[in-house]
Amino acid sequence: MALKGVFRGVIMGAPGSGKGTVSSRIAQSFGLQHLSSGDTLRANIEAKTDLGLLMKSCIDQGQLVPDDVISRLILTSLRNMNQSSWLLDGFPRTVAQAEALDSMCDVDSVINLDVPFQTIRERLTSRWVHLPSGRGLDDVTGEPLVQRDDDSPETVTRRLKDYERQTQPVLEYYRSKGVLETFTGTETNKIWPHVHAFLSKKIPGNQQARGKA
Ligand code: AMP
Repeated sequence: MALKGVFRGVIMGAPGSGKGTVSSRIAQSFGLQHLSSGDTLRANIEAKTDLGLLMKSCIDQGQLVPDDVISRLILTSLRNMNQSSWLLDGFPRTVAQAEALDSMCDVDSVINLDVPFQTIRERLTSRWVHLPSGRGLDDVTGEPLVQRDDDSPETVTRRLKDYERQTQPVLEYYRSKGVLETFTGTETNKIWPHVHAFLSKKIPGNQQARGKA
């Protein structure tokens, strides 16, 4: 069910892999709609929708929400995007979710950011955050910067292991379909030109090249 002129992509990467930065660059450079499952769920919680209220404790505890719930939510959002090109972020997280997505449409490419865990550990455990904004170094207000509780070395290692365990089957699923594209590196700015070059070939001309790598 490929739709001519439309690109459907998924981005995968461990927490701290630079996925957020790369996603926004892709969305901006290629004019794709960026749909993050985590953001969608958080928006539901914020708006106090029935689904948001129901899923809040699951999310607060860092557990995955049930496949059928998240699949319905994301597939509905995708249908509402009509025929535009999109990039999914955070979904699918399980093979059941990948199959649900396949029941609606084919995925053109899965961008997998492969950053060594050691690099991520160093990056996250030395990450300093400005609490009120959640930003990194804040030289605007001069307020003190703190280390996030969930960035302690033990927590980071656990999160990375959980990520690997959860996503390995999804990566295998897409590899077997021939749509997995892995980008390995230790720095986002060095990975990005390769992602850009790859997508420039993949994404139909009219969507392309609003920005340079
Ligand atoms: P994220 O911002 O992607 O880390 O997502 C935040 C939280 O939302 C996760 O810890 C899960 O509780 C939930 N979540 C996001 N995406 C999914 C998904 N595809 N499947 C199940 N739960 C999800």
